This record gives sequence, structure tokens and C-alpha cells, in this order.
Amino acid sequence: MVAVSMPGMKIQSIDASAFRLPNRRSFKWAGLNVELGHFVLVRIKTDVGVIGYGEATPLPDWGGDFGRRSGETVATVIGMINDIFAPALLGTDPAAVTRARQIMDGLVVGNPYAKCAVDIALHDLWGKSVGQPIYRLLGGKVRDAVPVAHMIGLMNEKDATDEGIAAVNDGVRALQVKGGVDSQRDIRLVRTLRREVGAGVTLRLDANQGYGHAKRARTVVDQLVDAGVDMVEQPTVGLTYLAEVTAHARVPIIADESCWDVADALEVVQRRAADCISIYLAKAGGFVGARAVAAVAEAQRIPCDINGSIESAIGNAANTHFVLAHPSVSLASVIPISAPSGAHPYVAAGRYYEDDVISEAFAVKDGAILPLDRPGLGIDIDEARLAKYRCH
Ligand SMILES: [Mg+2]
Repeated sequence: MVAVSMPGMKIQSIDASAFRLPNRRSFKWAGLNVELGHFVLVRIKTDVGVIGYGEATPLPDWGGDFGRRSGETVATVIGMINDIFAPALLGTDPAAVTRARQIMDGLVVGNPYAKCAVDIALHDLWGKSVGQPIYRLLGGKVRDAVPVAHMIGLMNEKDATDEGIAAVNDGVRALQVKGGVDSQRDIRLVRTLRREVGAGVTLRLDANQGYGHAKRARTVVDQLVDAGVDMVEQPTVGLTYLAEVTAHARVPIIADESCWDVADALEVVQRRAADCISIYLAKAGGFVGARAVAAVAEAQRIPCDINGSIESAIGNAANTHFVLAHPSVSLASVIPISAPSGAHPYVAAGRYYEDDVISEAFAVKDGAILPLDRPGLGIDIDEARLAKYRCH
């Protein structure tokens, strides 16, 4: 690893644009009305020619409890970055990541997906400028690999079962099963999956707030436990209902939609609303915000995973570095395993797109992503592929 220490380097340009990736199959979850695979690419250039990459996977219809969080779209993220953030960040030090967040927060409240995309690109530049992978900037590895949970989207029970079996045959030891539309279907599917994959695979049902108020959600969670579920993610909406379900559940309850940033994490702790937290870089506005969530979780010994919206290689690399460096992120994470077409190591596990914007597949072992040991994000962006998938 060759250090290219450039303490005086400055941001010269910031450019956000859109790209798409081809899906392997349709992946949906409760409340999601768009297909996955729409991204914002952020390219930040410095005055010494180094380029940092960031991405966002904005979803217009995913926005926290009771509509309290705004959805973002590809167009709003691009506009926010190019028109609002870029002019304010030009000429600043790309390694000053906390200051960059302060500048963005000072300009616009919310819009964490847009802030996250910039924050990832700045961390990539910071790492490249000192010749270190991002996980080393975050304090170094606390684990040697990132266990992957494979997400089974909303699909019919036969297809969902086959998808789960294929992913387990690939080597993953955790499945995140999307549900929340028809609780009886979810209970049947968990029972079938448990029978097919055996006792050693963690089954986590993500209801995306779909089981109604606390009383009904408690009943469904009980039935899911009887069917063999290990964890239930966001069975209901809002911290009051979630706390009631958590108090009575026989398995850990994970907060996702209910916990976006550090203020939410403190409230989850204070109200004992969940046993685990699902951290997204995007919900917290990037590494800077997500590290604060992880710190609260660490202080309270709350296990977390890193999750997201099925990112491209850029977001997946960022998530991989985050997991490697944070003790509280001890649960298997829904991180896609990125690979260019024809090079994916698995049949199903972590495989959501048929191609990606890198020239080399992520290295994996036994269903876990291995550290990306090169500077910054540690990936080789394939500009030809980016050009191919760019949306005009
Ligand atoms: Mg979720």
C-alpha cells in the first residue's frame, strides 16, 4: 500500500448523477413500490487528481414511523448535492468529514441519503489520501469478516423457500425474510424455511411495520416464534407499540424504521423499545452519523446490524468497512456481495444484481465478506461499466 499523503488537498469538483443496475430477480418488501437498482453516483475530485466515490439508494416511499421522515428520490438527491452541497464544499479539505457534515446540516435539515452519498465519497478520498482502507481510519478491525444475511424479498412461498435454500447452500448462516403483508403467509413461510434449512441458520423476519398495532403484532410475533423465527424486525410502527411488543416477545426485536439517527437510538434505549438496532449509513447521513448510533448501541450493549436498500459496490464497500470497525455491529448484515457480471461467487447469497460498477468481485469466505484492504473504499471502480449504466 503506497501512501499518498496530501494534507493540503482540496475539493475541486463534486458531481452527482444517476445510474441503474440490472436486477437478478424482482426484490420487494412491504411498502416498497419501486424496483431496486436506481442509484445516485457522487464523484468528488480533488486538486491533486484523486477521485472519491459515493452513492445513494434513495427510496421515495420509505420514511420512518408515521411519515415523520421524508422519502428522497434520485432527482432530489442529485439536486441537493449539485445545487446545495457542492458549492459550499468546494475548496475545503475532503478529509474533514465531520466539518463537511456540519456544513451540510447547516444548509439543509434532513435529506440524509444525499448527505450520506457525499460523506462516503469524502471517506474514500480521506483513505486514498493517507493510503489506508476506511476501516483503519475508523479504528481498525474488530472482526476479520462480515457475515452476510441474505434478503428474501416478498415473493410467493415456493420461490421464497427456494431462494432461502439456495442462499444457505451458498454458505450464508442468516436469512432476512421480508413479510408484513399477510401474517399467516409469513408464519407458514418461516415454518417451511426452518424445516428446510435446519436449526443452525438464523431466521429474521422483517415485517416493515406491517403487523398493525401492538396487540395484534404481539400475537403474530408469538406465532412466528412457534414457527421457528429467531428475530423479528420492525413488527409494528412507532416506539410505543414497539416497546410493548419488545417487552413481551420471546425473541429479540430489531428497530429499523423506528431508528434513523443518534437521537432515535437514545430514545430506543430510554424507552426500551427494541433489543437490537438496524443501522444504515443512509438513515444516519453517512459514516459520521452512523458512528454515533453505533456508539450509543455499544455503550448499552445493544447488538446491531448494518442494513440498507441493496446498494451497489460503493455502498456495500462502505458498509463492509463500517462493520469491520464497530464492535456493536455483531449481527449478520444485509449487505449485497458485489461482483461484475459472470464473476459472482454465489448462486443466490448476496446476489441481487447481474452486474456492478467494479472490475473485481468482493472476496468471500463461508458466506462472509472479507476485508477490502486497499486505500479508501478498497474497490476498483470500472468507469466503462459506470458509463454503460449511467442514466441520461
Ligand atoms: Mg428493515
